[in-house]
Amino acid sequence: MNSIEKQIGKKIKEYDCIVIARHIGPDPDAVCSTIALRDLIKLNYPNKEVYAVGLTVSRFKFMGNLDKVEESKLKDALLIITDVPRFDRVDGASKEHFQYTIKIDHHPCDEKVCDLEYVDEAASSACQLIANIAFKNKLKLNREIASVLYTGIVADSERFLLSYTSEETLHIAAKLLGDYKLDLTTIYENLYNRDFNERKFEAYIINHLTITENGFGYIKINEDIIKEYHVDSATASNMVNGLNFIKELKVWAFSSFDEKNKLYKINIRSRGIVINDVAEQFNGGGHKFASGARIKEEEQVDALFQALDARCKEENEQKLS
Ligand code: AMP
Repeated sequence: MNSIEKQIGKKIKEYDCIVIARHIGPDPDAVCSTIALRDLIKLNYPNKEVYAVGLTVSRFKFMGNLDKVEESKLKDALLIITDVPRFDRVDGASKEHFQYTIKIDHHPCDEKVCDLEYVDEAASSACQLIANIAFKNKLKLNREIASVLYTGIVADSERFLLSYTSEETLHIAAKLLGDYKLDLTTIYENLYNRDFNERKFEAYIINHLTITENGFGYIKINEDIIKEYHVDSATASNMVNGLNFIKELKVWAFSSFDEKNKLYKINIRSRGIVINDVAEQFNGGGHKFASGARIKEEEQVDALFQALDARCKEENEQKLS
């Protein structure tokens, strides 16, 4: 039996038309994994029709362009979803239009939703898995694709800081960096340059975060504050990673109101306490230590925050007993 990477390589070879999609509300790894996989397939099979779909996010435009496709017009196409565990979170593609489906992901998920699945919860990023597919199938890469893959790995591992960073992550990153002479200055500037306003907004968050006696930190970011600092709600939620390594915090969560969709977007992070099962109770999910939810009612936001605080309390009590 071929390895999963080889099985995916074989399926890619078989199909002339391929659509690649990722999760709604994308992060850099989600976008980079679709763009890198599309460009990788195009580079190796120039005659195939390949599309990377999903809403464009202006601050991620440096990663590459996304495609628009009318999937109902596609014939016998292959759909590959990356960085997303379930179809209800996929942006811009529906399963029923496709002949065959593949999932490439690193989120926990008990359910099988695609015909072929490459799920590695221990992987730092979806981009790490795409790089693996490229290497194991001896696919041609170029500097642009290597750079996009490296960007996704760096972003999702928080610059190799999170515990998902493994020997394999570093090995893949080193190979991309060395073989394609990546321009790290540009990669990091694209990913991390911020307006001064955003840094001031970060200071606002630090100053207004409530920390409970159980080590749970939370803040509700309302529209007025977002306007005052000239940022947007996505910027607010992206700042959640910046609160890592504060001694008093074990779990922390942001709630920001998404005016367009009339939803509270919740970002949750943890240093060691499992939180995704709590998020799942509120129609959310994600990784053990990095989860999220989208909630309609403010009371439910409060209930989620209380449940997270209770989880911290339980963990503290267990440690003492
Ligand atoms: P974020 O805080 O948006 O970066 O999300 C952290 C993790 O939680 C990501 O892996 C997301 O895919 C996941 N996540 C965020 N929101 C939801 C949701 N509503 N349902 C399931 N998973 C989510």
